[in-house]
Amino acid sequence: MPEKTVSIDIRKDLFGANEDAAALNAEKFKEHGIKAIDIMGSVGTGKTQLIEVLCEKLSGKYRMLMVAGDLATRIDADRVASHGVDTVQINTGTACHLDARMVRVALKETDLSKYNLVFIENVGNLICPAGYPLGVDKKIVVVSITEGPYMIRKHPLTIKRSDMVVINKVDLAEALDFDVTALVDDIRQVDANLPVLRVSARTGEGIGKLIEKLEL
Ligand code: MG
Ligand code: ZN
Repeated sequence: MPEKTVSIDIRKDLFGANEDAAALNAEKFKEHGIKAIDIMGSVGTGKTQLIEVLCEKLSGKYRMLMVAGDLATRIDADRVASHGVDTVQINTGTACHLDARMVRVALKETDLSKYNLVFIENVGNLICPAGYPLGVDKKIVVVSITEGPYMIRKHPLTIKRSDMVVINKVDLAEALDFDVTALVDDIRQVDANLPVLRVSARTGEGIGKLIEKLEL
């Protein structure tokens, strides 16, 4: 038997497969006229609360579905479901991000003709979710005042791969003596043209502007 050596570029293979699945997701969303938004950010930045507020504000306008990614539990999906929005929970077990194939498998049984707006809440993590396109229209990242001042500088790649940065919990900035302008400057260092929205999902501040920027 001839001796054969096959070199596999695991990174290329893995990411290539994800790109293929992402293209299929994008095709499916497009076929149903669905706008899909991937929401990334660390645990505790208020991703779920932001989705809840958006669902409330957009309930008359869109037929929405929320896809929630978490290692375990359906806490976030249940919170959004309490607003009358359909949800699909993906429990990733050990995976610290969603990938396009997970989304594809999770939506296999879902009748997508019922929806025209899909929010995908990624697993709470500011690192790898940015490396896995899901086939969405927009990938946004949520950072918040309570995470401390270095979130942007420590995660430039995630910012670079996002279409928009949402700074949440701005209502707490004064109480925590947090310099929001410095955070915006850090974002500008990474990408001078990236839309940056200052919001409070809790008080509703800036949500109207966010909806406008998301073209919803
Ligand atoms: Mg959440
Ligand atoms: Zn990961």
